[in-house]
Amino acid sequence: MNYNFIFQISYDRIVVEDSLKQRVGSYVVDSFHDAQDRAMQGGGKRLKTWHVSDFVSPCLRKSYYQRLYPQYEMDDQKRAVLYFGTIVHEHSKLSHFHEVTMCYDMRNGKSYTPQEVGALPDEDRSHIITGTLDDLCKVGDDYVLVDKKTYNGGFGFKKTKPDESYKLQLEIYRVLLKASYGIDAKIGCLLYLDKSKDLSETPIVFELNETKETEKVIKDIYKQLTSADVPPGNVCWLCNGNNRAGKVYCEYEDECKREGGRIVDKVDLKKK
Ligand code: SF4
Repeated sequence: MNYNFIFQISYDRIVVEDSLKQRVGSYVVDSFHDAQDRAMQGGGKRLKTWHVSDFVSPCLRKSYYQRLYPQYEMDDQKRAVLYFGTIVHEHSKLSHFHEVTMCYDMRNGKSYTPQEVGALPDEDRSHIITGTLDDLCKVGDDYVLVDKKTYNGGFGFKKTKPDESYKLQLEIYRVLLKASYGIDAKIGCLLYLDKSKDLSETPIVFELNETKETEKVIKDIYKQLTSADVPPGNVCWLCNGNNRAGKVYCEYEDECKREGGRIVDKVDLKKK
C-alpha cells in the first residue's frame, strides 16, 4: 500500500478545509460589519451643526480639536459599541415622544425643525445646536426626560448617581424641548443598563437645573469652543488608560500633550 499517497490526500484536505474555514469566517464577519453599518445609517444623516454631545464631553478640549481637525475613523470596536447602542435605542421605545430631534439657535433661543436647518447654508448653522432625546414620558402631571445609557458593571459596581455629563445632556434637552415644543420637563431619568448583567436596569431620577441657568452654561461652553484659545484639557476616562485594555479613546492625545495646560486629577491617573 502506498502510505505516502494516503498521507498526501489527507494533508491536502486539511489545508483546503482550513483555508475555506478562514474565507467563510472572514466573509461572515465582513457581512456582519456591513449589517452593523446599515443599521446605524438608519438614524438619518447628521446635521452640520453643533451637537449636544460636543457640549457635554468630559473634556471640552477634545470637542474643540474635533471641530478643527475632524478625523473620525470607524474601527471594529467603535462599530460594535455604536451598534449595540443603536439596537438598544431602536427597540426600547418608552413613549410616543421618542427619538425626537430638536434644533436651537444659541444666540436668540429660537427653535428650528431639522428640515429648516437642513435647508440653511452651512455658514448660517454656526450658532445652532442639535440634540435628539430618547424619550419624553409623562408620569402623573410631570414630564420626564429619559435617556438610556449602557455601561459595564462587574465587580459589584452599581450606578448610584448620575454622571455629570449625562445630567448636563438632559438639562440641555430641557432647554431645547421648551423652545421647540413649549413643554417644560423638570425631571430627568437616566436608565442605566448593565451590559455585564443582561442589561439589568438602574433608573437614576433627579431634578433638572432651571432652563435659565442651563442657557448660561450653553453660552459659556459655546464661547470656549469657539475661542482662539484652546480650552484646558481634562484628563479623564477618555485618555487616562484606566480600563481593562489600557486603551486611550481620544485621537488627539499627541496634540494635547504638545499644547500643555492639562488638568490631571489624582483619581484619574492610571492605576499601576
Ligand atoms: S488627550 Fe485627554 S485631555 Fe487631551 S484632549 Fe484628549 S481627552 Fe482631553
